[in-house]
Amino acid sequence: MPFVHPSAETYFGIPGYVLSWVILIAALALFSCTLYQRILLLRSGQPDPRFSQLDRRFLGLIRYGLIQKKQLRYFGAGIIHYLIFTGFIILSLRSLDLIIQGLGGGYELYWLKGSFGGFYNSLKDVFELLVLAAGLWAILRRLLLQPERYRRNGDPGHQSEAYLVLGLIVFLMITDILFEAGRLASTSQVSRGWLPAAALGAWTLSGSLPSTGAVLSSTVYWLHLLAFFFFLNFLPLAKHFHIITALPNVFFRKLEKGGIKPARWGIENPEDLDSLGVGRLTDFTWKHLLDFFSCTECGRCSDQCPARAVGRPLSPKMFTIKLRDYGYSKEENKIAMTGGLITTDEIWSCTTCGACEEECPVCIEYIDKMIDLRRHLIETSQTPKSFNSVLMQIEKTGNPFGKPASKRADWTKEVPGLLVPILKAGDEAEVLYFVDGYASYDPRVQIIAQAIVQGLHRSNIQFGILGAREKDSGHQVRRLGEEGLFQNLLEENMETLGSRRFKQIVTTDPHAFNTLKKDYPGDLPVMHYSQFFLPLIQDGRLKPAKALAPGDVYTYHDPCYLGRHNGLYDPPRQILKTLPGMNLVEMQRCRDRSFCCGGGDVNLWHEIEGEEMRMAGKRVRMARDAGANVIVTACLFCLLNLEDAVKTAGLDKEMRVTDLMELVVSTI
Ligand code: SF4
Ligand code: SF4
Repeated sequence: MPFVHPSAETYFGIPGYVLSWVILIAALALFSCTLYQRILLLRSGQPDPRFSQLDRRFLGLIRYGLIQKKQLRYFGAGIIHYLIFTGFIILSLRSLDLIIQGLGGGYELYWLKGSFGGFYNSLKDVFELLVLAAGLWAILRRLLLQPERYRRNGDPGHQSEAYLVLGLIVFLMITDILFEAGRLASTSQVSRGWLPAAALGAWTLSGSLPSTGAVLSSTVYWLHLLAFFFFLNFLPLAKHFHIITALPNVFFRKLEKGGIKPARWGIENPEDLDSLGVGRLTDFTWKHLLDFFSCTECGRCSDQCPARAVGRPLSPKMFTIKLRDYGYSKEENKIAMTGGLITTDEIWSCTTCGACEEECPVCIEYIDKMIDLRRHLIETSQTPKSFNSVLMQIEKTGNPFGKPASKRADWTKEVPGLLVPILKAGDEAEVLYFVDGYASYDPRVQIIAQAIVQGLHRSNIQFGILGAREKDSGHQVRRLGEEGLFQNLLEENMETLGSRRFKQIVTTDPHAFNTLKKDYPGDLPVMHYSQFFLPLIQDGRLKPAKALAPGDVYTYHDPCYLGRHNGLYDPPRQILKTLPGMNLVEMQRCRDRSFCCGGGDVNLWHEIEGEEMRMAGKRVRMARDAGANVIVTACLFCLLNLEDAVKTAGLDKEMRVTDLMELVVSTI
């Protein structure tokens, strides 16, 4: 008997195809209204130039959007997502086909007939089974394993949306399979391809009357259509909006890591602005608002966030969810956003380590948002008191210690048998060693600066420093949100750098390296010392010869601003491997999953209440778990923090911390 399409039937005197049109128009009208609201919100954001370097953007779209490179970093969840995502692409054609069939009273797209149709029908049938399995697996995984990262503030009740959507996906698969199965069971029509899912469904109906198949087919068809349009309208209401916005969000991702966005794009002088930071939702840029739409709530950001790991009141995932819900609910006039909805402790808890951004599968940004919120706190005098004195000292003396500039080069007197040249205006050197504040004044960090100049001297490099004319690089100042002071430091340093001639700038500190490279104008030829010394060691100009003490096991801690923000994972490791007698082990969290020591940026000057343990303490445990007794760093803030943590943990008899350059010089 021939198959009669459900839309060709009449229901209570109304032709099925008319019902199809009514459902379609109502659903699209509702969807357009919601989408319009979202677009209005997006358009209320500040400008953000995201249309440059289209080739890199398209490549990123393929890498992170289509191939979904980051998904497999969480293997089990990644596989599920791959299956559902691929199924979504393949089955969207099927959905279109089913809608058109309904509108045309059973009309089928002509190119879905014939041999391509047979192939496509087989493919969609296989994927329906795969997506069905992935959906069921995802539901069971959530029910049985209950991964912590899926929760919102530890409340499992908020997972209902995920269950609803997974349930809808499963329902859509089952109804389409049964639609085909009913058609197979009720008709002797020619084959529509190899349909394993439909054949399985038809097998369960075997023995029943052909009319049963027809009724089933008709019922599940309408249920499928209604579920599909319900799903479509549900998408923009919460986290599944990412199905629509994730690809654009990936396309418009931030291309350069490490740097900070200006206070407002398109404004040259921050003093021209009425307000600097972000105090209201609409002070965010449109891209940052798009971020809120695009969060999948997968929790990977919070899972990797060191602030969350030590119990600070910050969860990047909740940060995004709170702001998204705030934007959707139009609560803007009822509750202050900065310092209210997002508390000051949340804002200061962030170390700007970048672990969240590295992990996020849809390229959501956090650091620029945090800095924008801090700019508002600074502007409205909501900063912790501890910052005021540091900022005042930097403003007055150019260093966070408030020490006189005339003593900035005193550390050079302690370098045995070596006179460190101080470059004056018009002087020239092969290398300008930019020392920065901590290496100039802190006695422990001065040892690293001394090791660096020894390394330069032994490599026969002609170099010099800026002495009293050097000011703090301003890395922390900018990340603290004090944009005005940062601009002053930048101008003074640029003027000094512009009046000396050099081929290369070498820095001690990854933070100074990062800010000179990413925040300063122009293209300063700046290198971190590990990058600079590696080729010198490789070509024998600097020769580590003395063997390290036997029995020591070393591990390298990746500083966030060297690794994640600048991709320099290998040079320090390559240097370590050249040291005679080196026994190097890796910590479980290393390279782009390194765990922040908690010392960079503002955290050095401000303690967050409620922290269960110091980040550096957790990091020392990780090193011990890896079997190491020596932690090597290439960042002075990591060194200070980790050394302190070793002492606090009472481990100073069994573990020690050293800087890479100190270690290298000790073997020469
Ligand atoms: S930058 Fe680091 S500390 Fe800040 S939210 Fe991201 S992971 Fe957490
Ligand atoms: S911000 Fe990214 S990593 Fe974090 S929950 Fe959202 S999608 Fe996942």
